[in-house]
Amino acid sequence: MVSENAEDYLACIYDLTRENESVKTTAIAAKLELTPASVTEMTQKLANEGYLNYERYKGVTLTPKGRTVAERIKRRHRLLERFLVDIVGMGKEQGHQEAMRLEHNVSDGTVEAINQLLNYPTCCPDGDPIPPCESIATPDPDFSVPLTDMSDGDRGKITHLTCEDSSKIKRLISMGFVPGRLVKVEERIPLGGPILVQMEELKVALSRDYASKVMVRKCD
Ligand SMILES: [Zn+2]
Repeated sequence: MVSENAEDYLACIYDLTRENESVKTTAIAAKLELTPASVTEMTQKLANEGYLNYERYKGVTLTPKGRTVAERIKRRHRLLERFLVDIVGMGKEQGHQEAMRLEHNVSDGTVEAINQLLNYPTCCPDGDPIPPCESIATPDPDFSVPLTDMSDGDRGKITHLTCEDSSKIKRLISMGFVPGRLVKVEERIPLGGPILVQMEELKVALSRDYASKVMVRKCD
């Protein structure tokens, strides 16, 4: 179990060592707004625990173990930011601050549900890459079809929503189109009319434009 403090610390070193060079403890102190003495103490502790390599005059680098912790926290942070900015509607700075707090406590299941809901984004709102998670397989691109490709009577489970426009995603979510829900196409109104969808107790008429954004894995 890594403390929140240590998670922040490893994530900070991860940010500072993009080019795989070692980072000086003074740079860490400046970024985390800590005294050099407390940074040195933490560095030694984390090096003893196998998260860092520390060479007295060169500085620190992450070990593979430390990198795993840092990537996990960056993944959580950036996915939370995307969710808070795109879906909740926060500004980037507020989303960042909120993500700083949530990243330590959110469960992996929630993070991956957000990942699916947002259709596996590759970068955060600032354009920084979201580190991949080894245990989560990238979905097979052919495993789901848009709701518009389904026929009358077809059933399926919503896998994700595909849309660049977050206002459309919000609208779909508010209508109940969220990943994991079971849907049944009741009737496709001809001539480009809406698609009548039964979703649990709910019956919804969805325009073709919106229906094309809802990706479904068919089931019998
Ligand atoms: Zn951020």
